[in-house]
Amino acid sequence: MVDLKSQYEHIKEEINAGIQEVLDTTTYINGPKVHEFQKNLESYLDVKHVIPCANGTDALQIAMMGMGLKPGDEVITADFTFAATVEVVGLLGLTPVLVDVEEDTMNISVEAIKKAITPKTKAIVPVHLFGRAANMAAIMDLANEHNLFVIEDNAQAIGANYTFADGTKKKAGTIGHVGATSFFPSKNLGCYGDGGAIFTNDDALAHTIRGIVNHGMYERYHHDVVGVNSRLDSIQAVVLNAKLPQLDTYNQARKNAAKVYNDAFETNEHIITPKFDFERDDHVFHQYVIRITNGKRDALLTHLQEKGIPCAIYYPIPLHKQKAYTDERYNDADFAVTNKFVDEVIALPMHTELDKEQLDFITSTVLEFVL
Ligand SMILES: *Cc1c(COP(=O)(O)O)cnc(C)c1O
Repeated sequence: MVDLKSQYEHIKEEINAGIQEVLDTTTYINGPKVHEFQKNLESYLDVKHVIPCANGTDALQIAMMGMGLKPGDEVITADFTFAATVEVVGLLGLTPVLVDVEEDTMNISVEAIKKAITPKTKAIVPVHLFGRAANMAAIMDLANEHNLFVIEDNAQAIGANYTFADGTKKKAGTIGHVGATSFFPSKNLGCYGDGGAIFTNDDALAHTIRGIVNHGMYERYHHDVVGVNSRLDSIQAVVLNAKLPQLDTYNQARKNAAKVYNDAFETNEHIITPKFDFERDDHVFHQYVIRITNGKRDALLTHLQEKGIPCAIYYPIPLHKQKAYTDERYNDADFAVTNKFVDEVIALPMHTELDKEQLDFITSTVLEFVL
């Protein structure tokens, strides 16, 4: 699905030299490279505070801990996403409330959020799924009206712009009260191990979170709150410092590949391509996901695998049907879109190194099967 080897070849010298420097200076943890990356990412995202941490799941958990949410508080998030989002809600003893997604964007449905709000609701967690920002303007309006926190799960959309009605743009992950991202190797900005970060423009919240990631310490050996140990290490920061200046180029390469796919598939009556205006909308295509509407999705998956084309189903089971997250309050009919998606979606190879020959082979192999 991804070609990290070819990408590494282009930035090898810088990464190797940076890693050697960390080894020579033994600044493995909290070294200058981590601080440098924090500053670089703050300026790229145009956000006041970036707090690096160990992975994207921690980033979400720590963001929620920072908001001071209490057991029993309800947190609304999307049914169609990776489980990490809802997992941390459960781990903190908060009550996850899953809602359906929109047909066009595959992101959390604002209408469904509205219906799910109760007096116990404290936060909304929009997930910018597959690289496209959720409808943040409407979500922020709703949050302001009901006095709710917004925690953006930006693990799949780093670098994506969100455009407001008046034309102003902000980076996904910097619009809500706090954003969380992952630097897992296959993400759009990936390191060579685990990594994550939390972003916020709120000074007080940033201070709280900086203590939480470091065992609840604001002063050495004074533990004011229950914290965690969650750090980005210097070697990962070296990789991220080398890749961050390339992020826009990487995302553009993904977008170009998505355009080739969309152009090839658009006229096929059994394929629904991502609805997307390449001139106006932003989308960083963490995944390129199409829908196969003639019931042949599973057969296509097997066919592509036989032809040596990597592909995957994101996500095969709605969260509301997962043993760990099912809840008797849910009504299956309220998840009509997610229930349909899990049977129709298929993700095709998407990374920064796809060339024309590979794309032609993939599109023709898909098209000859899905007639
Ligand atoms: C990858 C991912 C995460 C978790 O990130 P890790 O670094 O793997 O912990 C959370 N949410 C979404 C939507 C993701 O895709």
